[in-house]
Amino acid sequence: MAIRCAVCLKPRCVFSHSKLKRQEEEAVGRVRDSMVFTCGSNLFEEGGRYHDSIVVRRAVNCASPIEAQYYSSKLISFEDVCYHCGRQDDLLGPEHPTMATLRQQYSVIRPICLSCFNDGKRVKTWGAQNARKKTRRV
Ligand SMILES: [Zn+2]
Ligand SMILES: [Zn+2]
Repeated sequence: MAIRCAVCLKPRCVFSHSKLKRQEEEAVGRVRDSMVFTCGSNLFEEGGRYHDSIVVRRAVNCASPIEAQYYSSKLISFEDVCYHCGRQDDLLGPEHPTMATLRQQYSVIRPICLSCFNDGKRVKTWGAQNARKKTRRV
C-alpha cells in the first residue's frame, strides 16, 4: 500500500506488521482522501489508534527519491513511477536507447520520466551484470 504526498505527489510506502485489515485499509484511505499526508509526517495522529501499527518512513522529505520498498513490494504490484519525482506519465520506455543500453548492463533499472532525464538526473540502476561475479558485498 502506498499513499501520495499532498505536496510532491510521490507515493510513499505504508508499513505495518501484518497485512492490513479492511478497517485499517479504510483508515489509511481516509488519510489519503483528506490529502493531508506529506513526506516525513505521521500517517496517523500521535496517540491515535493506528499510530504505532501503521506507519510511513519518517526520514524522507519531498526531495527524497522513491523508496526501494515501493518497487520491491511483492504484496501489491505498484504502478511504475519515476524514481526521482514520482510521475507516472512520460516514463522512458525500454525502447529508449539509454534504457536499452542500461538494460544490457544492469539487472535493476528504476523508471525515470522524460523531464528528469532531460534535467540530467541519473537513471538509478544496480546489479551490474558483468561485475556481479567479481565483486562481493562485505
Ligand atoms: Zn512530498
Ligand atoms: Zn521524474
